[in-house]
Amino acid sequence: MYGTGLAKGLMLTLRHFVDSFVDDLRYGLRKYSHATDNFGLRQGTAAKGVITVQYPDEKVAVPERFRFVPFLIVEDEDHPTRSGKDWCTSCGICAKVCPPQCIWIVRGNDPDTGRPVPEPEAFFIDIDICMNCGYCAEYCPFDAIKMDHDYELASYDRTSHHIHDKEKLSKPASYWRDIAPTRAYEEMLVRGTWEHKDAAKEARRGAASARAGSRTQQPQAEVQPAPVVTAETAAAAPAASATAEGATPWSEDDAKREERRRKALERKAKRAARSGG
Ligand code: SF4
Ligand code: SF4
Repeated sequence: MYGTGLAKGLMLTLRHFVDSFVDDLRYGLRKYSHATDNFGLRQGTAAKGVITVQYPDEKVAVPERFRFVPFLIVEDEDHPTRSGKDWCTSCGICAKVCPPQCIWIVRGNDPDTGRPVPEPEAFFIDIDICMNCGYCAEYCPFDAIKMDHDYELASYDRTSHHIHDKEKLSKPASYWRDIAPTRAYEEMLVRGTWEHKDAAKEARRGAASARAGSRTQQPQAEVQPAPVVTAETAAAAPAASATAEGATPWSEDDAKREERRRKALERKAKRAARSGG
């Protein structure tokens, strides 16, 4: 019948209208409170009726997966060893995958040696060209670039405000953990640490060499007072002397590495034999 859809639409509008008053009565004066939990409840899925958000005084909280323009993660100021350091290694992958090509990176160089260093000297994103696709954040192998929640970026001056430089793009890692706690946690699980990949690698290397150092010092401390290394006892006990000399040819890590290398060479030889046959 003609007009049924129109009547249904009007009924829906009327229901929302009535629900708004019912909801208002339910909340009473609490609806004027600016407490975050109250506002969140009014904007949540349990709320009914038509809600007017008094923007910009009030803002609807964005979901965690909301994405606007990208930003770069730098280490927190209170980080014990890497305060303010870039997570970005200027590998350039984000610039390569960016569909509208709005990322521009200048790789840093060591001022003394002139050799490239894994951090960007300059990093620009033209946010008027950026289409907020999030590819850069998805592809970054170091979790160094993320999509921001800050969407209030309008201004009258495109050049100084809409081409974000490194200083404007850089935000501390704690900011990312605040706006996207679930994503940050998932990434931490994949990386195996809250730290930057390189920092974690360096820490592992440091710990391994410290372990190796302690292992090499321990036998020496035990061997030194023993009489086996003296001139008199060396002749009498050559086997013991040889043991003392060969006590620390390499660390356990070196031995494992050598074992892995040997096995890899064996596999390679087998592959070569198979392809040759
Ligand atoms: S992909 Fe990540 S690490 Fe590489 S340049 Fe881009 S932000 Fe930096
Ligand atoms: S969000 Fe997309 S368009 Fe914007 S900088 Fe990243 S890859 Fe480029």
